[in-house]
Amino acid sequence: KLFTKEEIKQLVIDENVEFIRVTFTDVLGAIKNVEVPTSQLDKLLNNNLMFDGSSIEGFVRINESDMYLYPDLSTFMIFPWATDGHGGNVARLIADVYTSDREPFAGDPRHALRHVLEEAKNAGFSAFNVGTEPEFFLFKLDANGNPTTELNDKGGYFDLAPHDKGENVRREIVLTLEKMGFEIEAAHHEVAEGQHEVDFKYASALEAADNIQTFKLVVKTIARKNGYYATFMPKPVSGINGSGMHTNMSLFRDTDNVFEDKSDEMGLSKTAYNFLGGILAHATAFTALANPTVNSYKRLTPGFEAPVYVAWSASNRSPMVRVPASRGKSTRLELRSVDPTANPYTTLAAVLAAGLDGIKNELEPLASVDKNIYLMDEDERTKAGITDLPDTLLAAVRELAVDDVIVSAIGNHIADKFIEAKKIEYTSYRQVVSQWETDAYFENY
Ligand code: ADP
Ligand code: MG
Ligand code: MG
Ligand code: MG
Ligand code: MG
Repeated sequence: KLFTKEEIKQLVIDENVEFIRVTFTDVLGAIKNVEVPTSQLDKLLNNNLMFDGSSIEGFVRINESDMYLYPDLSTFMIFPWATDGHGGNVARLIADVYTSDREPFAGDPRHALRHVLEEAKNAGFSAFNVGTEPEFFLFKLDANGNPTTELNDKGGYFDLAPHDKGENVRREIVLTLEKMGFEIEAAHHEVAEGQHEVDFKYASALEAADNIQTFKLVVKTIARKNGYYATFMPKPVSGINGSGMHTNMSLFRDTDNVFEDKSDEMGLSKTAYNFLGGILAHATAFTALANPTVNSYKRLTPGFEAPVYVAWSASNRSPMVRVPASRGKSTRLELRSVDPTANPYTTLAAVLAAGLDGIKNELEPLASVDKNIYLMDEDERTKAGITDLPDTLLAAVRELAVDDVIVSAIGNHIADKFIEAKKIEYTSYRQVVSQWETDAYFENY
């Protein structure tokens, strides 16, 4: 909803709001916030709230640290949960980050997404619509409120209570999100024990990315209130399914979904095929963004419904991209590699840039793969032109660094900071000797 400054001020009074939480996302995808009392509301609404950018991961050096937060008035909402006697209600606004010279800051992931959306507009597309399916696990908290590694239930896909103890938590998450304006399409137990999925209606990309950040905050808050810890870590337990965040995408021109073409045998337009061609061509490069942690690559392994190869299909769920059966307004491509640790702003900027590059250069996708890729051997895959997704964070980061389309989608500032941070992360991981290594090598050598 597009609020005016006056409407926000009135809501703050009417709803007894005492604090405004101003949030933004850093280069690595973490939500940051500055909380101000409502006495600062005018200053905030007039784009005069400053903060120290040097304390934020991947932002700036000390000597250029003063930055402004420009609140996006359409993101105003009041958190529906009680503050337990610690003051009145708390509202939030998502902000764009500006430099002290009042220029959009190149290290702001939200700005990167805005920039690629502008390119999509110039190419004649009024909206890039995105619907995500984030999955998460619920673990028990111990008596001191710390997370344990004990799962909350033994349920499975679409199971009902009594197996599914997460049902009440999930219901409260859904009700809370609805109070915050989300349209929830479905909520269900996932394949693994303790694993859940809540699906909300697609929105245009900037709002979709904001929604993902809000969603994670709500899930974690409501889980904790109920004695659980919610994690979006991609593979919290080995040997069972990990958590993905399937990303459904379509391009619209006004109210028309331009991915649909009834005259095509699959019902897809040339624009859709070329967008898909771009996604496949740049997949290895945007993987570092879509799967940005060491742990992400433990999910992208065979046997657990997560993709391992760059391929697409209309009829089965093993490839990286699936074309769901719905047509009309719901005609879409589903990118299945993304996981919930992805920074939604840079990831959507990258996949959109990949798709637009496919449209611009009329990239044709490979033939679709209509059998289970995991049952094909390497020879068969090579003949079909199927390549591998990067298998480690380091391999992914190296692919990102050499793809100009993806690097320019997120901008050099973010690319440099991201790549540097991820190389350090990978080195730190590599220095630790794991239990697996001790088990495999200690007594054999
Ligand atoms: P799945 O069959 O893969 O489990 P879900 O029903 O869980 O799919 O989720 C589908 C997602 O796709 C929802 O978020 C939905 O709003 C979204 N969606 C539907 N139509 C479009 C579209 N045209 N563009 C983008 N996303 C869409
Ligand atoms: Mg789903
Ligand atoms: Mg579904
Ligand atoms: Mg799922
Ligand atoms: Mg899905």
